[in-house]
Amino acid sequence: MSRYREPVCRQCRAEREKLFLKGNKCLTEKCPIERRPYPPGEHGRARRRILGYGIQLREKQKLKRYYSMSERQFRLYFQRAERKKGITGETLLQMLERRLDNVVFLSGFSYSRAHARQLITHGHYRINDKKVNVPSQLVNMGDVLSFRDKSKKHEELKAIVDFHKGKAVPGWIEVDRDNMVVKVLAFPEREEIPIPVEEHLVVELYSK
Ligand code: SF4
Repeated sequence: MSRYREPVCRQCRAEREKLFLKGNKCLTEKCPIERRPYPPGEHGRARRRILGYGIQLREKQKLKRYYSMSERQFRLYFQRAERKKGITGETLLQMLERRLDNVVFLSGFSYSRAHARQLITHGHYRINDKKVNVPSQLVNMGDVLSFRDKSKKHEELKAIVDFHKGKAVPGWIEVDRDNMVVKVLAFPEREEIPIPVEEHLVVELYSK
């Protein structure tokens, strides 16, 4: 599956916003956007007015980058969201948020979404006691996410869970760090998805 190959911090700078793609580094002063909050490149500092289509495009790129998805994959999500009942933009966000790699990251069981994807493909997790290795799998209400027994003893994984001990998690998941288990209580509501994006602009862009 094709993904962005450019350095991840350049993606944040291109959007002039922190997209939190690098785990702990994003929370420190080493974050490049703290020092250079303008797009990379020779003309990065130049003032540019973005209007209409440009704004819609930026919102779509931001969302796509946030979840590290290719254009093709992102468009498939959009088409699936469009076919469902409800507000398309919110449904899209809800589906993206329910991705297994996102849930692992939100739970504090990985340092970033990219790291979560790596751990999932290495087979460290189980859903409802069944092995999973597809990061794009969507979790459902009542699902229980846990570590494989062997992985629970893995020093690196234990260190990740310990590191995130105090991490706040959204209300739609419940995390039991002692037993390394996550329960999906509900589907996320829009206000529980703290992504700085205006999803209706993404819908407008794809509806042209
Ligand atoms: Fe973005 Fe994190 Fe890099 Fe900062 S450190 S630019 S928030 S990916």
